[in-house]
Formats: sequence, C-alpha cells, structure tokens
Amino acid sequence: MTPLTSLALVELWEQGCYLGPIDQAIRVICAVDLSLSDRQVRSLPLAQRDRMLLDIRSRLFGDLCTCTDRCPHCAVVSEFEFSIHDLLEQTKDQEKAEILVHLEDYKVAIKAPTSLDVEQVLSSSKTDVTRTSALLSRCIVSVTRAGAAVSADQLPEALTEPLVQAMVEAQELADIRFGLTCGECGTGWSAPFDITRFLWDEIDYLARRLLHEVHRLASVYGWTDRDILLIPLRRRAFYLECIGT
Ligand SMILES: [Zn+2]
Repeated sequence: MTPLTSLALVELWEQGCYLGPIDQAIRVICAVDLSLSDRQVRSLPLAQRDRMLLDIRSRLFGDLCTCTDRCPHCAVVSEFEFSIHDLLEQTKDQEKAEILVHLEDYKVAIKAPTSLDVEQVLSSSKTDVTRTSALLSRCIVSVTRAGAAVSADQLPEALTEPLVQAMVEAQELADIRFGLTCGECGTGWSAPFDITRFLWDEIDYLARRLLHEVHRLASVYGWTDRDILLIPLRRRAFYLECIGT
C-alpha cells in the first residue's frame, strides 16, 4: 500500500470531489494501491471494498472513528465511537463470494454484489424497490427446485424479501449499523455507518486545510503549490510557524 503524500491527497480530492460515492470509493483505493486497476476495484464484492476503505482510513487518520446520528424520535444528536480494528476482527470470516439460500423447496445461489452491479442497477432502475429486486436478479447465479434447475424468473415473489435479506446479511461490512439509545428520550435505533462518506469527509477537510497552508506559504515565499505540498510535514510546519500561523 502506497502512503499518500500531501500532493497525492490533494490530487485525489481534486479528482473525486465532484464524483458520486461509488467513484470516490474506487479512486481512494486506486490511489493507495497502485497495483489495482479501476475495473478490478469495481469488480470487488462491496464488503471487500469497504474492508479496504476501513483499512485505509485507519492508516490515514487512525483506528478510532467518532460518529454522530440524530435520534429518529426527538432529533437530539448522539455521539458514538468504534475501533476499526475491532470491527474488522469481528467480521473477518463472514464475507463469502457466494451463498446458498434454502427457502421452501428452492435452493438459490447468490453471488456477492459488486460496485459494478450497483452502478448498473442505479442506472437502469428508478425506485428503491425495483433497484433491490434488480440487484438480486443480477446476483442470482442459479436456482434449483426439488433438485431440478429452474429459471430465476420462476421464483415466487414472496421469496424476494428473504433472499435480499440473506444477500445483505452475507455482506455485513457493506451495511454497517450500530445500535444506539437516545440519552434524552430513551428511543433505541440502528445508526448506519457509511465508510465512503465518512472517509471522504475527512479527505475533504484535510485537503482544504492543506490548500489553506499552501495559500499562506505561497503568499509569502512565492513557491508553487506543487513544491509546497512536496515539502516534508515537519519542515512545512516550521515555515508556517515562521510566518506566524
Ligand atoms: Zn431521542
């Protein structure tokens, strides 16, 4: 994994700040693992992709994540913390490339959804319900009924929801949630955690802070932004101290 220099981080931010979350996730991973192509990362199961993002977050900003969410009843904000190391340990053997679900007399093999699958579904389906069904359809590998192969179209509609549930549960890291209880009104709820959004917000904050530093140093010394971002951190901090910031 390549450490991100200040210059590489600002370039990553510049390339990704107008992109959607899937593309941002891909850009971050490709920026720190130069051996992976865009296509390879898009083809990774979502849980594996998010495991890589959590690992990158841990290396860039530390292990502890401090998050907030609003109580759905009284809207008071609750803060919660978790360790990335602990989360990765708890979920390390739970990701499967394919699962086999037994429902009634059907056996359905479902592959883990990837970013490519989600992108395809987002571009072709309009509502959340049709998107969920479309994602399931893309990920069904085979269906048998009482031992005989049948088409996925022949699955009863009533099985869609439990099959989607099984698909989501098999990719636990792609749907991280934390149980919270409101300190104000006692309501309990499940707070979602989106690693792409969380990490991108931190990259956005850091890149803007670096550019403010570039602005201050360039205004005094006349160096280019590229030169300033390549100055080692300790020396850059010294120059900032010299100009009184
Ligand atoms: Zn509350």
